[in-house]
Amino acid sequence: MPGLTSEAETPTRCGFVALIGAPNAGKSTLLNRLVGAKVSIVTPKVQTTRSRVRGITLAGASQIVFVDTPGIFAPRRRLDRAMVQAAWRGVADADLVVLLVDVAHGLDADVARILEGLGKTRRPAILALNKIDKVAHDALLPLTQQLSAADRFSDVFMISALTGDGVVTLRTHLAAHLPEGPWLYPEDQLSDMPERLLAAEVTREQLFLQLQQELPYALTVETEYWQDKPDGSARIDQMVYVRRQGHKGILLGKGGQQIKAVGQAARVELERMLDRRVHLFLRVKVRENWTEDPARYRTWNLDFNA
Ligand code: GDP
Ligand code: MG
Repeated sequence: MPGLTSEAETPTRCGFVALIGAPNAGKSTLLNRLVGAKVSIVTPKVQTTRSRVRGITLAGASQIVFVDTPGIFAPRRRLDRAMVQAAWRGVADADLVVLLVDVAHGLDADVARILEGLGKTRRPAILALNKIDKVAHDALLPLTQQLSAADRFSDVFMISALTGDGVVTLRTHLAAHLPEGPWLYPEDQLSDMPERLLAAEVTREQLFLQLQQELPYALTVETEYWQDKPDGSARIDQMVYVRRQGHKGILLGKGGQQIKAVGQAARVELERMLDRRVHLFLRVKVRENWTEDPARYRTWNLDFNA
């Protein structure tokens, strides 16, 4: 048959793959690993990811659009509810769903709740047992059996998002199971996050990494000004909103040392990601009610009334 074996006849595929899981399962780490670049921020603290983050990659003739989601947990506050809703919206819009389970935690209450939610959707789902670098291999079989009992998954993969073990196999499988269709993004596009938001996320990541306990959850970052300079560098001005005067003091630190350290680390990371020189200016403002401000939700594409 003419043409069927030629390269040109290989159908292109394109689709959305939602990465879901409990907080800290490793979703953002996996997204970065799958895309081969940092597109989502990662910290050891739970609930770092506030919105849906898309990472785009090519695998053979397939363009895969991965959707990183906030962790799914029992929400209490408005921001929590909006984040969990965003995760489930990611599922509803996806062609395939990958449930990531931290093997060191196993089938805990969070995972049980997600399984229940998945049962109500008709999206095809794949199970990825993550962090296999942390446990002995014979511990994996019982967990696999336990989770497979839900009869919700077409396939099971064992991976380590951190070391990359098993990730290419998973990606190849996903690429082959997307619907046929034209690619949605230019070949070299890795993310659909606007640069201003990306820059704010990088600063927020440093705040998560450098500040203790609850403070990172009580703050948010906005890029207020961005200037591309003739010499190729960028001037970026950001505001960090905190909820209390006391937080502001901690954030600034003695003689402004703390905010300076955050700014320096964020600048280095931004220069690496943007591949250009960056002049980063951070300011801190107290705004008690930022978690009740609809504008904050719009920047992350979250539903204020979730
Ligand atoms: P998310 O909340 O699901 O997005 O999880 P993150 O990607 O932010 O990761 C949470 C923590 O788990 C971070 O400290 C990661 O370095 C760590 N982590 C992610 N994947 C792995 C893995 O495969 N092995 C190990 N040992 N740690 C991992
Ligand atoms: Mg995350």
